[in-house]
Amino acid sequence: MSAHTSSTAGQPIPVTLIPGDGIGPEITRATKEVLAALGAPFLWDEQKAGVHALEDEGTPLPDATLRSLERTRLALKAPLATPSGTGFRSVNVTLRQKFDLYANIRPARTLLPRDDLRRYDGLDIVLIRENIEGYYAARDYYLPQGDDPQGMALSAGYTTRAECERIVTHAFDYALAHGRRKVTLVHKANILKLMSGLFLETGRKVAARYEGRIACDERIVDACAMQLCLDPSQFDVIVTTNLFGDILSDQISGLTGGLGLAPGANIGKDMAIFEAVHGSAPDIAGQNRANPTALLLAGALMLDHTNHAALATRLRTAIIQTLQNGTRTGDVGGTATTDQFTRAVINAL
Ligand code: NAD
Repeated sequence: MSAHTSSTAGQPIPVTLIPGDGIGPEITRATKEVLAALGAPFLWDEQKAGVHALEDEGTPLPDATLRSLERTRLALKAPLATPSGTGFRSVNVTLRQKFDLYANIRPARTLLPRDDLRRYDGLDIVLIRENIEGYYAARDYYLPQGDDPQGMALSAGYTTRAECERIVTHAFDYALAHGRRKVTLVHKANILKLMSGLFLETGRKVAARYEGRIACDERIVDACAMQLCLDPSQFDVIVTTNLFGDILSDQISGLTGGLGLAPGANIGKDMAIFEAVHGSAPDIAGQNRANPTALLLAGALMLDHTNHAALATRLRTAIIQTLQNGTRTGDVGGTATTDQFTRAVINAL
């Protein structure tokens, strides 16, 4: 999958570490402590990005951070705040496009024990999101309407056949490599006839190449959202375009117990950035209340990616055991602080 999969055992692997904004520094500290206790072979190169970097360096994406990423080709990134409406362009979107990180992999599994927070038994869905096109690559314009010079907003997103082919192929190859049964193409080709239609048409052609090995079905995105709530067990691997993938992956994380538990990987040909699905959670920043699980699980994905599957399994087992023993942060119904939860995971390793 990447240059990193050939790393030699025992050799430290250089990784760019971006502590980010809001709760980012707290969950990054927790993740560093747990990975050190686990003996993970990562050599951190800590760099700034986001609002924090803007305040300190005058830019949300400093050159030193870009140079580090170009050198390591591997990163663990905590959330970065992005102003809504006006303000700077999302650093997350810039990084995905600049480094051609075309596949966003978001695995979601039930981790919590039987209680009112655990929505479903045995939920195990991997959402694969096209990461560089759609409305995230759009130019936004205001157009005049009547007396109002900004009376209309136009967003020109796009989809290319080549990218649709690449992301759906990635999803089928992922399904084959991970022993999955089925890939569901999620689209809105009934309304966005060309933009989403191209994804569906290309996806069907790719699916035909895997016939007999991996099953394929299709859902319109709105129906898919409803069916995920009613019976998520009908889904295995989902592949979809950028905006739909962003929305559905948050929905799926809600089915497993919340954003605090959901990791993600941004994968390109020779580079990968691992992250939590959630944002910078400004409402709880600096209060020692953040759940570090999502970033810890992103660390586990990075261990898998660098051929350290045994360490990844040990880390996941310790996290699950900690949650199931009842040490949990407030977002998943507990009273533990970030520090207490971190300590408990380290003790469970
Ligand atoms: P959010 O994910 O930051 O927060 C949503 C809710 O979930 C909040 O109530 C928050 O407290 C809670 N939450 C999220 N992660 C948690 C955790 N680990 N532990 C406990 N509770 C947690 O979403 P938002 O408030 O819409 O966005 C805040 C900022 O984050 C925005 O600037 C947004 O652009 C940015 N963002 C960044 C990323 C990223 O860097 N990958 C992703 C999403 C949003």
